[in-house]
Amino acid sequence: ILHMGVFQTTVQKNGSSSSIFAEGVQRTSGKDAHRMNIVTARLVAETIKTTLGPRGMDKMLVDSLGDVTITNDGATILREMDIDHPIANMMINVARTQEIAAGDGTTTAVVIAGELLKKAEELLDQRIHPTIIANGYQMAAEKSKEILDSLAMDIALDDEETLKKIAMTTMTGKGVEKAKEHLAPIIVTALKTVISGENGSLTVNGEQIKVAVKEGANINETEYFEGIVIDKEKAHHSMPQRVENARIALINVPLDISSKEATSQIRFSDPSQLRAFAEEQKGMLQDMISYIKNSGANVVISTRNIDDLAQYYLAKENIMALRRIKKSDMEKLARATGANIIVNLEDLTEADLGFAGIVEEVKVADDFMTIIKECRNPKAVSILIRGETKQVAEEVERAVEDCLGAVGSALEDRKVLPGGGAVEIELSKRLQNYAKYVGGREQLAIEAFAEALEVIPTALAENAGFDPIDTLIAMKTQNEKYGFQMGLDVYDGQVKNMYNLGVIEPLRVKKVAIDSASQVTTMLLRIDDVIAAARLKKPTPDQVLAAQSTNQGAQ
Ligand code: ADP
Ligand code: MG
Repeated sequence: ILHMGVFQTTVQKNGSSSSIFAEGVQRTSGKDAHRMNIVTARLVAETIKTTLGPRGMDKMLVDSLGDVTITNDGATILREMDIDHPIANMMINVARTQEIAAGDGTTTAVVIAGELLKKAEELLDQRIHPTIIANGYQMAAEKSKEILDSLAMDIALDDEETLKKIAMTTMTGKGVEKAKEHLAPIIVTALKTVISGENGSLTVNGEQIKVAVKEGANINETEYFEGIVIDKEKAHHSMPQRVENARIALINVPLDISSKEATSQIRFSDPSQLRAFAEEQKGMLQDMISYIKNSGANVVISTRNIDDLAQYYLAKENIMALRRIKKSDMEKLARATGANIIVNLEDLTEADLGFAGIVEEVKVADDFMTIIKECRNPKAVSILIRGETKQVAEEVERAVEDCLGAVGSALEDRKVLPGGGAVEIELSKRLQNYAKYVGGREQLAIEAFAEALEVIPTALAENAGFDPIDTLIAMKTQNEKYGFQMGLDVYDGQVKNMYNLGVIEPLRVKKVAIDSASQVTTMLLRIDDVIAAARLKKPTPDQVLAAQSTNQGAQ
């Protein structure tokens, strides 16, 4: 269990130089600023280093409400830790950028950043100026990307075997590992369905993949659908449970009379007025329903409420309806069925309707969901994720999302690299040569950068219970003998060809990791002054309790 207190770095008050600042302002300059920032950032990296790789540990996170998340995913851990520190937040942003840009490699990016900072600290001790270090790091990062490009192997779009291996590499070590054989083909098929563009520049439209989650079954029951799965049941029991040749109206309007009057008060002096008012309201609702009916729709899906009476009228017209669906689902449905989302019912025409072969309510575990199949746009697919408990299902969801991102980037670029620390060893070696070639004052920084990359194979070995130094030596020897594909099999400690073992990662994952790790480090190195205004302190839970008990005592 992580305790957030560790991230509260103490700042020494610099008495004399802070005189020009308002009271309470804390200033830390020069070396102190560098030290303080580096220590904080390294703490974040150290926290998640033990989770790296298939045999990495999990973290159990308990939020303020006592909800528990158990995960191995770097980005999730950092997000849930609820860190409140500007420098630590910069590290969290590294993970976030990584997740968005490449889908996977979040731990790798943060761990590399931490190691780059550790090496920078050593250089600072040798009185090397932070600007020199930052420059050297930047040169090393640029060179790294060049080297990675040259090492990457091309894969063909229809090379499903390799794509599945990439998916499985991303999944290893996560809660989903035991189901990776089942999930990998689902992920590859889903992604290949939503791909668009020419062979030269392919785009994976990941937003067209609906990922739905429902606990209550084994991970291996996770299903792939062509169409969209919505986590909602039909609004009224007497509505049809299945509609064929569905003509679907997507509306953003409440079918609801009571809500309109909620803000104003209406006074009636006699019962007949009340009756007339009720009739008028009913009439308005019937009008709304008739707009829907006249458009030819036999299914209505709304992001808003559909009240009891409206449900009844719709059911009487044999129209199936879903209410209060998520806005993101609405957008997916619009794309999938070709419908326009309507905000004013009077404008609804036949041309606004979407089409799907079948709309059907199905029972999943103890709940009902609705599947919209055979959509007008065949590039609409869903993955219905299962897991025995809510926690498991959610960890599966995170793993699948990562995987969709990573395999998606491999599909777009069609370039891959060997995992298991193989590429980092090669990169490190080549950067050492580059450092000699550059020479001068930056040489030391580039060498430090090269050494820092060895943290990946070392941590993979350490987390798997092998001696990190022996393993690193073995890897370097095998790299010299058989080439850069040689990496660590974390299950037996042997050094093997990673392509043959199926440990394959997208080029983009590695490139973005190096890029964002070096960016955050150089940014931190260029800060030599931290001027912090006095913070409005949130009371700690203990203080709140103490205050409450004194109040009660006084009463
Ligand atoms: P990240 O958040 O950076 O993706 P992971 O915990 O997923 O962190 O670990 C990724 C690392 O694990 C990569 O270096 C990858 O090559 C390595 N890896 C994945 N599967 C294997 C395997 N079967 N054998 C060795 N290394 C592996
Ligand atoms: Mg990973």
